[in-house]
Amino acid sequence: MRAPACGRREVMKASIPTNWAALRSSLLAWYDRQARTLAWRVSPADRRAGVRSDPYRVWLSEVMLQQTTVPHATPYFLSFTQRWPTVSDLAAAPDDDLMAAWAGLGYYARARNLLACARAVADQHDGVFPDTEEGLRALPGVGAYTAAAVAAIAFDRPANVVDGNVERVMSRLFAVETPLPDAKPELKALAGELVTDERPGDWAQALMDLGATVCKPKGPLCDLCPVSTWCDALKTGAPETYPRKAKKADRPHRHGVAYVLTRGDTVALVRRPPKGLLGGMLGLPTSEWRATPHDDAEARAAAPVAGAWRDLGAVEHVFTHFSLTLRVFAATTAGNEGASGGEFVWTPREGLGALPSVFLKAARAAERLL
Ligand code: SF4
Repeated sequence: MRAPACGRREVMKASIPTNWAALRSSLLAWYDRQARTLAWRVSPADRRAGVRSDPYRVWLSEVMLQQTTVPHATPYFLSFTQRWPTVSDLAAAPDDDLMAAWAGLGYYARARNLLACARAVADQHDGVFPDTEEGLRALPGVGAYTAAAVAAIAFDRPANVVDGNVERVMSRLFAVETPLPDAKPELKALAGELVTDERPGDWAQALMDLGATVCKPKGPLCDLCPVSTWCDALKTGAPETYPRKAKKADRPHRHGVAYVLTRGDTVALVRRPPKGLLGGMLGLPTSEWRATPHDDAEARAAAPVAGAWRDLGAVEHVFTHFSLTLRVFAATTAGNEGASGGEFVWTPREGLGALPSVFLKAARAAERLL
């Protein structure tokens, strides 16, 4: 029997009741017909014919898809797998090549973890990914979600794969009233109730596809939904109001100054400290980023070298945990000066495309106005 439509519900069912078996069949049949074609995916028909997913491709795609969209991740995935077709190829990549190829995907700590994981698989597992959740979880940088996704999709293990899409589907199917993020354990437990030994890889991907293409955040397409019969949120008449959300704290705002120093066709970059935001990446020299704007004298005093700095206005950027107004100052030089506290890396203008987005915005603003 299903629990009542509202309020916290009991999720400790010992087994899946018959009606949930019908829900599962309906969703899997829909997936067989409607599965998205994705660069890293083996289609349901091919899976039935015995084609297995490559764990390397599944792992790489899952890491890339954390915090970014399928259209944004796809060209990166294609370029990575063309350049590094196996995990051992990736493991042998120089750090700088990998970081440059990752530019634009954000979360550079993830790129460093990617390399550490590839090297662990190559060095400690002969280039073969472990085939269990536990074994995968022991790899550097592989969290519970990625381990579950690779175990289910690549090895057909009955793992409970819960991303934001699956959380949304569960919150609606069961009309969970607990707001996010407190609801996460409850939603995960509900999703776990629906996992069985039958086609676990397809099940995980079917739920993801349902969340991405039908049970959308703002406008769920309930008329097209293969599980609408079982959906408690639909019965409330306002399915889009699930998942309930706790009121968000405002994102703090910071201010800083970026300095574009050019010499001929090159621009001065600096290597950022290994730890912290954009750690280890090349970027423009900047002032500190703080809560209050820098006045003109402060902005000039924080410049990496003395010079005739021109104020070119500001660019805006939003990071996960704060937003930033970055004023852009530019100057030219013919000299060989180094940055205070470190050496400049003189980089040709055409090489600036590999910069993290925040610095690329500032460099482009300067290029337009210089
Ligand atoms: Fe989502 Fe609507 Fe389907 Fe419910 S019926 S799971 S709200 S798409």
